[in-house]
Amino acid sequence: MKVGREPARDRHRLAVARAAIGPDVEFYVDANGAYERREARAWAQTFADAGVTYLEEPVSSDDLDGLRLLRDRAPAGLAIAAGEYAYALEDVARMLAAGAVDVQQVDVTRCGGITELVRAGALCQALGVPLSAHCAPAVSVHACCAVQRLAHLEYFHDHVRIERLLFDGTLEPDGGDLVPDRTAAGHGLTLRRDAAARYATSG
Ligand SMILES: [Mg+2]
Repeated sequence: MKVGREPARDRHRLAVARAAIGPDVEFYVDANGAYERREARAWAQTFADAGVTYLEEPVSSDDLDGLRLLRDRAPAGLAIAAGEYAYALEDVARMLAAGAVDVQQVDVTRCGGITELVRAGALCQALGVPLSAHCAPAVSVHACCAVQRLAHLEYFHDHVRIERLLFDGTLEPDGGDLVPDRTAAGHGLTLRRDAAARYATSG
């Protein structure tokens, strides 16, 4: 759940969401860097009290010292995650070297592609930090199968909608899992040229 845009409503939203999902479902929140460090520390406690186990980008991902501070001082059981804006392997390396995250995010559509995602996975493995793949689930699944310390793959419904619109070979989740089609080559996707044509730009 996104948090931090309207902080005055977030305690109520946490309660409504928890009531909807029940007590046994893991509850993750994403602040997209909305907080200053001091605010983030206070909210980390609020989230932990609400049974949240995963806090994404409590401060800006550029603030590696701030992320480290949160990671060191957040309540036990609340994982600090960031990294979806890593555009090069060096960005991932810097975040890991700073000890900034409990879970390292990587987005295969931003980080330099499948080869770089796999390299980021190796960095994470070496440092004992799990990797969470950020969105674009259909194109991430096959690459994620080569990541040994994979935590999870973020399943974003607007990405899913676009992937289904533009590609054949997208996957249906089964019990929370996405399983690659081993009969398909590569990432298993084929561009639906007819569907894509209406979005073509001239020139
Ligand atoms: Mg995010």
